[in-house]
Amino acid sequence: MTQPLIRFQDVTKRYGHLTVLDNFCFDVTPGEKVTLIGPSGSGKSTVLRILMTLEPFQEGTLHLAGMSYHQDNGRGRFLASEAHLRQIRTHVGMVFQSFNLFPHMTVLRNVVEAPTRVLGLGRAEAECRGVDLLRMVGLSEKKDYYPSQLSGGQQQRVAIARALAMRPRVLLFDEPTSALDPQLVGEVLGVIRDLAHEHDLTMLLVTHEMRFAREVSDRVCFFDKGRICEQGKPEDIFSAPKEDRTKEFLGSIL
Ligand code: ADP
Ligand code: MG
Repeated sequence: MTQPLIRFQDVTKRYGHLTVLDNFCFDVTPGEKVTLIGPSGSGKSTVLRILMTLEPFQEGTLHLAGMSYHQDNGRGRFLASEAHLRQIRTHVGMVFQSFNLFPHMTVLRNVVEAPTRVLGLGRAEAECRGVDLLRMVGLSEKKDYYPSQLSGGQQQRVAIARALAMRPRVLLFDEPTSALDPQLVGEVLGVIRDLAHEHDLTMLLVTHEMRFAREVSDRVCFFDKGRICEQGKPEDIFSAPKEDRTKEFLGSIL
């Protein structure tokens, strides 16, 4: 049995009196591509944000790539040191719905900034790799442009290149195409689809693009009220869901 790369062990996350995750357990094996689906407010983004160490939680443990961190009981502060959190974070890349590129930096600077600053890569080497990554997302000729000169789909492809520049073991996508005009969705999904063929890369994806989820996922998890209500292979979840809540949700969006 392969050791999981990610393990949420009895993680409880509250915002004030609202319990978003209640003793949440979730394992992801290395290289696995997992899609999280479910109604708005069911806790999907919270799971990704905890993995990115953007969000403290109250109870339980998160294990990631052989490292782990706990929380103090109740107060919701990080127990791990900032250095430890930074180390965990270097394994994880995240692509947000809203691109979040640095507006005052060129496309190439956006991609090389973190590897030079955080990984200590030399500028020339970082730029060389940066151009390779931009070529992979089909944007090497835009390297000297600023984000505002690009379409939303192009900006999101830059954001993907930027996340990859840190050589993460885990790549998280939170509704990466939800902010895009419909005609730009395909180019971004195309890039993610190519990445899904990288066997070493572990991917967690929140999306409402069900046809796409079916193509790229090894496993689909249906979230409801902070729990994984049903999970399985995409063909099973989409063609023969067992739980009423899953059927209802899929019926409402397909
Ligand atoms: P999803 O991504 O599935 O739509 P989220 O993980 O964003 O759901 O949110 C789960 C629940 O946590 C929702 O009820 C949401 O309103 C609440 N929530 C998320 N972020 C915050 C926050 N910063 N403060 C208070 N409540 C929040
Ligand atoms: Mg969300």
